[in-house]
Amino acid sequence: MSNKSVKRRDFFRYVGIGTVGIGLSGAVPTGSGIQEKKPGNLRKTITEKVFSTPLIDTHEHLIDEKDRLGNRTLIGTKSNDWTYLFSHYLDSDMLSAGMPADDYKRFFSADVDPIKKWKILEPVWPKVKHTGYAQAVRISIKELYGIEELSEESIPRLQKAYQEMVAPGFYKKILQEKGNIESCQVNSYPILKSEMPDFLMSDLWADSLMTYVGNNDYAKAANIDPKTLKDWHRVIEWWFEKYGKYVVAIKIGQAYSRGINFDRIPYEEAEPVYNQVIQGKQVTPEEKKKLEDHLFWHVVGQATKWDLPVKMHLGYHAQWAGKTNQMDLAMVRNNPADAGRLCDESKDTRFIFFHISYPYYEEMLAVAKQFANATIDMCWAWIINPVAAKDFLKKFIVTVPCNKILIFGGDYTPVEPVLGHSIIARNGIALALSELVEENHISLNEAMTLVDPLLNGNAREIFRLEKKQKVLKNLNWNTL
Ligand SMILES: [Zn+2]
Repeated sequence: MSNKSVKRRDFFRYVGIGTVGIGLSGAVPTGSGIQEKKPGNLRKTITEKVFSTPLIDTHEHLIDEKDRLGNRTLIGTKSNDWTYLFSHYLDSDMLSAGMPADDYKRFFSADVDPIKKWKILEPVWPKVKHTGYAQAVRISIKELYGIEELSEESIPRLQKAYQEMVAPGFYKKILQEKGNIESCQVNSYPILKSEMPDFLMSDLWADSLMTYVGNNDYAKAANIDPKTLKDWHRVIEWWFEKYGKYVVAIKIGQAYSRGINFDRIPYEEAEPVYNQVIQGKQVTPEEKKKLEDHLFWHVVGQATKWDLPVKMHLGYHAQWAGKTNQMDLAMVRNNPADAGRLCDESKDTRFIFFHISYPYYEEMLAVAKQFANATIDMCWAWIINPVAAKDFLKKFIVTVPCNKILIFGGDYTPVEPVLGHSIIARNGIALALSELVEENHISLNEAMTLVDPLLNGNAREIFRLEKKQKVLKNLNWNTL
């Protein structure tokens, strides 16, 4: 697509809230003797390139535009007004900062006048406004509606602008025109059958193929009554046969509820547990793990056969439905070690590990460096901790082969904050590359050469996008 949406003279404003990351007049590193290494110059050159290069977004939870236009917000009972921008993920920081549960409910309620909601947010706003979650929302509000600060005065304008923006074509307006985002990969239940199939591509959400066996949506779609474990294998295979050609990857989110220490459990050991589960009988946690482990490898085997990468959630837990205090960090801590074991166990499988396994990201550099079948996806990381994400990328470039990283995924259900998130990411990418040049790790020329593969080339290669886009271009999911 064209780069004209991010005009060269415009890049100065893409530096986030109140910062000027470029045009610094710092000292030239002594002994470099290279005029272009003057921080002001090189940061400007790199930033300009990063902002004018199309980005491929490898992870979102967007609902299709037609559903958003149909007044659907998807996240619980959150209302379709300006507060929707806060509903994913900024609401978590609001609760964590101490917002009372009742205020939280009223803030997102469709029964409260949107204009009156500022009073509910006002006490907590100064406490959360600096986090990555808030920055993404603030930058989006600034870029989409021209509103710099939230206040009693600006909320009516924000509400009006929010409503006006939600109109046919607004996804492409926000993502492509404003964000220079070429395409997005969406994780929806069980797949996203978008009306823009080569713009919003889909993952196959595989969790329910492993955790909620029985007569669920997956079995019903396959029209199979899954009486035996063999039947369940057929359900799994049906999904790959039906959709394997059209999805870009599979997505597994089991790290939210268990460790990712999946052992290879033979059929005979898993079968008796399946029989218990299917009859509605209780099984022990050990038995449950056995069955899930067995099914994990069956699913992963199918993905590998269909040349689909296996995307896995790792690290930090999102706080769904306004629940705080839910994360077992001791369990999370083991994710990198187990990720390495998975790579070793199935060398033909292409694993993509999400979110830099935050906060255990140093370990993920070791995993990606060591295992040929490990790729890291930085989705979500830029707003969990923007500074850590920048440092991670910097370290990655000088530690791991540069074809093994996917740089951006907004990880959002609402489309609007994806823009803010992408600007934080572009800023961080430009800064990481600039610092590497300033610190004499790579040359300016090398930094410039890295921009295309990091922002889109790696994704094109890893997800076979040329081939997929041909198949998806004129696809009507409903006629499959
Ligand atoms: Zn996600």
